[in-house]
Amino acid sequence: MLDRLAIRSFCNQVVSGAVAAAFIVAAAGLKPGCLIAQETAPAQQPIPAPPAAPRPATLPAAPRFVVVLDAAHGGDDGGGKFGSLLEKDLTLALSVRLRSLLAARGIAVVTTRESDASVVPERRAEIANHAAARACLSIHATQTGSGVHMFVSSLPPQDPARIAAWKTAQSAWVTRSLALEGVLNSALLQAGMNVTLGRTALSSLDSMVCPAVAFEFAPAGGQKGEKPATSLDDPAYQAQLAEALAAGLLAWQAEARQP
Ligand SMILES: [Zn+2]
Repeated sequence: MLDRLAIRSFCNQVVSGAVAAAFIVAAAGLKPGCLIAQETAPAQQPIPAPPAAPRPATLPAAPRFVVVLDAAHGGDDGGGKFGSLLEKDLTLALSVRLRSLLAARGIAVVTTRESDASVVPERRAEIANHAAARACLSIHATQTGSGVHMFVSSLPPQDPARIAAWKTAQSAWVTRSLALEGVLNSALLQAGMNVTLGRTALSSLDSMVCPAVAFEFAPAGGQKGEKPATSLDDPAYQAQLAEALAAGLLAWQAEARQP
């Protein structure tokens, strides 16, 4: 659930003004280890073996790639109402669909809700932060406009070294969030989607310390004043969205792995 003001501004407005996404290649990865073969001359006298050097109990593990899927609204907060459809059901349906696709591709997924439950914005941010998410998608739906709208926090970017307040923690991650948005945008465009990019203020997003993007889907063929060509709950449409997002998140994972 997002705070009422944010929900109103986020779900009922068409946001224009595309932002240029800055792509940053993450410097990550471990140097490969190597084994060096050594030849030794036969010893004339037995040489006592040197004491074994202490070995680390475990090798340092590569950071786990975890995606957090945040199905917006839920419980008492239905979100937008589109005829007989409630936004909270549409966001959960897409979250479940995307979770399955990502899990099938070996990506660890944490969700903020798996049922029609109320989850306050602070809790959503806590879940993403606790999971050390490498990407978080807050999923919304709207009847306004067409295609897909993606938003990054409107907080100004801030030096990650500075300690940020809870309500503005995302400011240290805005640059990475824009990079994530850019990668997702490419995947969605490749899938033939109509994408609009913007910035927004969402209390849950603003408290996340990870690359975070709010993803809002509208009917695919909806034009102003015309009946939408595709319903928001159309299984084929939801599958198309989930496939494009999964492709984008896989590309994001591949980018993060680059040295
Ligand atoms: Zn919403």
